[in-house]
Amino acid sequence: MSAIAVPVLVIHGGAGVMDRKKMTREHEEACHVGLAQALRAGLAVLARNGTALDAVTEAVKALEDDPLFNAGRGAVFTAAGTHEMDAAIMDGNDQRAGAVAGICGPRHPILAARAVMEQSDHVFLAGEGAARFCRDIGLEHQEPAWFDTERRRAALTEELARRQKGDGDDGDGDESRKHGTVGAVALDAHGNLAAATSTGGMTAKAVGRVGDSPVIGAGTWADNTGCAVSATGHGEYFIRYAVGHEVSARVRLAGQTLEDAAAAVIQEDLAPIGGSGGLVAVDRHGNIALPFNCSGMYRGFAKLGTGTLHTGIYAGDERKVPV
Ligand code: ASP
Repeated sequence: MSAIAVPVLVIHGGAGVMDRKKMTREHEEACHVGLAQALRAGLAVLARNGTALDAVTEAVKALEDDPLFNAGRGAVFTAAGTHEMDAAIMDGNDQRAGAVAGICGPRHPILAARAVMEQSDHVFLAGEGAARFCRDIGLEHQEPAWFDTERRRAALTEELARRQKGDGDDGDGDESRKHGTVGAVALDAHGNLAAATSTGGMTAKAVGRVGDSPVIGAGTWADNTGCAVSATGHGEYFIRYAVGHEVSARVRLAGQTLEDAAAAVIQEDLAPIGGSGGLVAVDRHGNIALPFNCSGMYRGFAKLGTGTLHTGIYAGDERKVPV
């Protein structure tokens, strides 16, 4: 197929960021740098005429390796002090998809999801069966302790103490303990869309709990006739509202612009019922949307050929940096 589109990449590193008053300058800077690095990783694929699928894979791999974000290394802990990671990927060209849930072992959960799509007869593998599949196909593995970080350990201790005291869910108003995920959506030069999402889930989640990220149609969705979506937020709400598919259906069937469709789901459907979070989306025309209904969302985007990367955390703090 000849080149018909200007490639675009949009990423997120999770919604519900740290309260601005508690955010240190160093942490904020490091997050902007991490987002820019992930954009560069995905953009490099698009620049050599690669696919949207490869671009979102590379962007998410970069974020999984960055301990600042809740996916891969740096994943949050379950209530039992373990890691259970979820990931999904979808190709908008043919709606092939792959997902894994509740795994701890593969260094890059997104590669596990992609392997389910490309090397199995299935779409979704969970738990022990998923772990065995990942070992059998020879994915790079790490010991559980490799995924640990001090910050996430402290968040678990704090959350468990808070629960013991019986504090309400919004005890200190700090949503960062609840949220975090990484994701990417892209449009390539061939006009194809793709989405990828990877997460450790929510701090102190119940063992066995699966959020929206690996659920195709909820946290991850891509179809070339609608749009590609990667979501982040309180997963239970995102599953119930089939967020990814809902945004795409509004574009495809109701003729809404991507921006209106994404805003309607995040601000009108989810916000009133307490479904905090956000999403990133791109359509086949290269329109993008990055709405969120909470204090912030680690996010970034880049259009090939502009020479500029855009990163942001809070509302209105977007930065431009050279590629
Ligand atoms: N959506 C993820 C989950 O519920 C968490 C997040 O994105 O913050 O597991």
